[in-house]
This record gives sequence, structure tokens and C-alpha cells, in this order.
Amino acid sequence: MAKCKYCGAEVAIGARCTYCGSKAESWYYSGEEKKQEPKKKKALHDRVRDLFNGKIYIVKKGDCLWNIAKNLYGSGAEYYRLVKLNNIQDPNHIEVGWKLYY
Ligand SMILES: [Zn+2]
Repeated sequence: MAKCKYCGAEVAIGARCTYCGSKAESWYYSGEEKKQEPKKKKALHDRVRDLFNGKIYIVKKGDCLWNIAKNLYGSGAEYYRLVKLNNIQDPNHIEVGWKLYY
């Protein structure tokens, strides 16, 4: 059971509220649960952990993601891991001095 988002009455998730007739969509309530998770704290913890593991690569002159991935992972095709981990917007554009988590 959950609280109706319109009138606050008890309503079964996925069913219609008996008071106001609005549907208690399950996505609405799952979204609410996600918001309550301490997301930022977790992300920061992960970053600090990586720092202490020394898992940081500093971009040098002439580097491209493909070559960096080849050095770090043994395969240039793994470059997407760097893109994902470091939230890189444009994989074709990296700059000297960037600290990349891997
Ligand atoms: Zn209602």
C-alpha cells in the first residue's frame, strides 16, 4: 500500500484510488524510492576509494582514449569504459592533464 499522490488516501500500487479515482502508477512510487537513496554520498565514496587505489590516469600529450585504453586494459576497444566512468561527453576530445578514473 502507498499514499495516493493526489488525495493522500491509502491506495494499492498499480490500482485506482477509491477516493479520487487516480491511478497509483508503480513508476511514480519507484521513482520516489530512488530519490530517497543517498546517491551523492555513494558516488563520492566510490571516487575516494578509487583515489586511494591509485586508479587514476593523467592524460599526456598525444594521448587518445583508444591508446589509453590499450595501455590500461590491454585493448583499445575498451575505451568506452573510460567514457562511462569519467562521464566524457565527446570521446574524440580529451585534454592533456585530465585525470581519468579507470
Ligand atoms: Zn486519491
